[in-house]
Amino acid sequence: MSDGVHQDGVGEPDDLDRLWTPHRMAYIRGADKPADASSEECPFCRIPTLPDDEGLVVRRGELAYAVLNLYPYAPGHLMVCPYRHIADYTETTDEEAAEIATLTRGAMRVVRSVSGAAGFNIGMNQGHIAGAGIAAHLHQHVVPRWPGDQNFMPIIGKTKTMPELLAETRCLLADAWAELSQAR
Ligand SMILES: [Zn+2]
Repeated sequence: MSDGVHQDGVGEPDDLDRLWTPHRMAYIRGADKPADASSEECPFCRIPTLPDDEGLVVRRGELAYAVLNLYPYAPGHLMVCPYRHIADYTETTDEEAAEIATLTRGAMRVVRSVSGAAGFNIGMNQGHIAGAGIAAHLHQHVVPRWPGDQNFMPIIGKTKTMPELLAETRCLLADAWAELSQAR
């Protein structure tokens, strides 16, 4: 493996470099930007209707769920979304806000346990002006960080494609999450 790229977050360490082709999977799934802000056009409304392996859902709660990002900033980049099509954090009920918090903590525990992430960036972009890609449906980013991870993108290479990586990552995290919650 190249210097500075430590990818425990995507599975068993191996010596394959990764081909960064998230656009291909997005194309396959028709997951491009929604045409408007309606729930019919909304990927975060559609994802929970799909089987977990197709939607890349890692964990389902009562009111919210955790899903892998199709355009990860880092391996294991998750998002926690309410099922309800609401845009703004102030629109959440107390119960939704509580479950988003619970799933966010769960995501941190799981990603840390499988990948030894050194840190996290956690947060919500509220509105297009603030950088939300899909502003119509609230989502909280959980982005694991490793030393040197800003060097990830230039060092990509050979064998594995992002769709395979994302599928593997989803299985790994979903299984680990189920195990961790049994142990609690
Ligand atoms: Zn939605």
